[in-house]
Amino acid sequence: MEKIMTKNIDWSNLGFGYIQTDFRYVSNFKNGSWDDGNITTDATVTLSESAGVLQYAQTCFEGLKAYRTVDNKVVCFRPDMNAKRMIDTCKRLEMPIFAEDRFVDAVVKTVKANLESVPPYGSGATLYLRPYMFASSAVIGVKPAEEYQFRIFATPVGPYFKGGAKAITLRVSDFDRAAPRGTGHIKAGLNYAMSLHAIVDAHKQGYDENMYLDSETRTKVEETGGANFIFVTKDNKVITPKSNTILPSITRRSLMYVAEHYLGLKTEEREVALTELNEFKECALCGTAAVLTPVGKVIDHGKEAFVSKSSEPMGEITKKLYDTLTGIQMGKIEAPENWIKVIE
Ligand SMILES: *Cc1c(COP(=O)(O)O)cnc(C)c1O
Repeated sequence: MEKIMTKNIDWSNLGFGYIQTDFRYVSNFKNGSWDDGNITTDATVTLSESAGVLQYAQTCFEGLKAYRTVDNKVVCFRPDMNAKRMIDTCKRLEMPIFAEDRFVDAVVKTVKANLESVPPYGSGATLYLRPYMFASSAVIGVKPAEEYQFRIFATPVGPYFKGGAKAITLRVSDFDRAAPRGTGHIKAGLNYAMSLHAIVDAHKQGYDENMYLDSETRTKVEETGGANFIFVTKDNKVITPKSNTILPSITRRSLMYVAEHYLGLKTEEREVALTELNEFKECALCGTAAVLTPVGKVIDHGKEAFVSKSSEPMGEITKKLYDTLTGIQMGKIEAPENWIKVIE
C-alpha cells in the first residue's frame, strides 16, 4: 500500500484556527490585468499604508475545504461554486474578476503544494482553503483601487464549534447583519467586521452564536454570522429561509439537493417567521466551517423561540443530511456530477 505522507500534527484535536502551512497561491492585478500567479512560501503581505483594503475595507473572501477520501484521494467540494460566488462579490465591490477556471486552477495548485497538510481520512479534520482578494494600491479619495492581490492559503482545521456533536444555543440578536439592498448576499470582509461585537457579546452572555433577523421588519429569520439555517418540520419537510440579504451558502444549496434527491424529502425555500420556530422539530446551522451543526435552543430575550424536539443532540433528519453530505465529500457515497474535484 502506498504510504501517505502527512505532517506530524495531532489531527483529531484540531480546533478551528490558523495554522501556517508551507505554500500559498498569489496573483497580482495591475494595469488592468491579472499576472500568471504562482505558488510561494512567503506567508506575509507588504502593503502601502494607504492601500484600499486598509482604508475602505475593499476586500472579500471565500472558504472551502479539501478532504482525504475513504480511498485516499484528495478532493475539493464544488470549488466552481466558490469561484462564481467570488465573481458576484467582486462585481458588487468594484473589484476585478478572477476567472472561474483560474480560481479552480489556483485551488488545485494550493492543495497540491500542501498535500502533506491534508488531514488523514477519518481524523475528523480537513484542510480549509481561504481564497481572498484585496485592494493593494493606495487610495485616499473614496474610489476603487487600481491594483489588487488574490491569494489562497490553506490551514488544517477541526470542528468550528467546540464540543463536536453537542447542540448549540443561539440568541436572537439585537444587532442587524445586513441591510435591504446592502451587501448581505456577498462575502465582503465588511460584513464580518461589524458582526464581531455581536458575537463577542453573545459569547459573554453564554450563547454560541447569534440568530439575525431581517433588518427591515425584524420578524423573519435570516442566518447567523457565518452559516445559513435549515429547519425540519414535524412531517419531515426541510425548510430554509428565503431572503435576498442572506449569503447563499453552497453547503445549504447542496443539502437542499441531498434532501430532495438522496433522501426523498420535500424541501422549501421560503420566508420563515421568528414566531413559527417552535413548530419545527429540528434546526441546524450549515456552512463549510459549521458543516451541519445542530441547534438545541434559540433564545429571544429570555423566551424560548425554538427548542429542539429531539432527544439526541442531532435530530434524525439532520443526522441523515449530515451523513449523506459528508459521505459524498469523503467519497463514501456517489456524488452528483461535478460536485467533487479530484486533486490527485
Ligand atoms: C460563508 C458563509 C456561509 C456559508 O457558506 P458556505 O458556502 O456553505 O460555506 C453562510 N453565511 C455567511 C454569512 C457566510 O459568510
